[in-house]
Amino acid sequence: MKIVLLGAPGAGKGTHATRLSDDYGIPHISTGDIFRANLKNGTPLGLKAKSYMDQGLLVPDELTVDLVLDRLKQPDCEKGYILDGFPRNLSQAEALTKALAEENDEIDYAIHLMVDDDVIVRRMAGRRVCTGCGASYNTNGLMPKDGHHCDRCGAEVVQRADDAPETVLKRLAVYHEQTEPIAAYYRALGKEAQIDGTLPKDEAYAHITALFGD
Ligand code: AMP
Repeated sequence: MKIVLLGAPGAGKGTHATRLSDDYGIPHISTGDIFRANLKNGTPLGLKAKSYMDQGLLVPDELTVDLVLDRLKQPDCEKGYILDGFPRNLSQAEALTKALAEENDEIDYAIHLMVDDDVIVRRMAGRRVCTGCGASYNTNGLMPKDGHHCDRCGAEVVQRADDAPETVLKRLAVYHEQTEPIAAYYRALGKEAQIDGTLPKDEAYAHITALFGD
C-alpha cells in the first residue's frame, strides 16, 4: 500500500503516518524528519537544507527528489510506504508519478487532511515533537506521560525551531501556494481522499483506515 499524506503543516500528517506505519508494518518516510536528522548530524545535506527550513521555505527539488526516490528503492519499501511531507510541489508529484510508472507502479491513496488555517496556527503554537522518532505531542493536553520524554521511544520532546509563529505563517503561505495544488493533481488521477483533520484523532484515523476496506 503506497500512501501520500497531504495537508498543511500541523494538519496531523505525522501523527497519522506514525500510527499507519505501526498498524500496517510499512515505513513512514518524512522528508522533514530526514532533513532534521541530517541537520542534527551536521551532514552537507543538512547544512544546505538548514537555511531553507529556518525560513519556512521549501528545500530545492535537486536536494529532495532523488533523496526520496532512492529511499523508495530500499527493501523495506517493497510492501509499501507512507510519504509524509513529499511531494510538496507539482514538480515533485510529477517526478514521483514518473518514477513509479517506470516500475509499472502508482500511488494508491493521496490522503488529504483538511484543516483551516486558524486551527493550524493554534495547533502549531502548542506542538511539541519527539527528537527520536518524530512523534507529535501538544501542550493542549496531549503531552507525553512524564511531560518531557516520548511515550513511544523515550527521547526528548521539544518545540521545533520552525514552529515559531512567524515561521508557521510563512510555511502556511508556502503550503497554499506550492503544495495545495497537488491535491487537485491527485484528484484528477482519482487518488485523493479528503479527511476532516479537525475530527478527534481516533475518529479521523478510523476514516482513513476505512478507505482501505479492511
Ligand atoms: P515538515 O517536517 O514536513 O514540516 O518539513 C519541515 C521543513 O523541511 C519544510 O518547511 C521544508 O523546509 C523542508 N521540507 C520537508 N519536506 C520537503 C519537500 N518535500 N520539499 C522541500 N522541502 C521540504
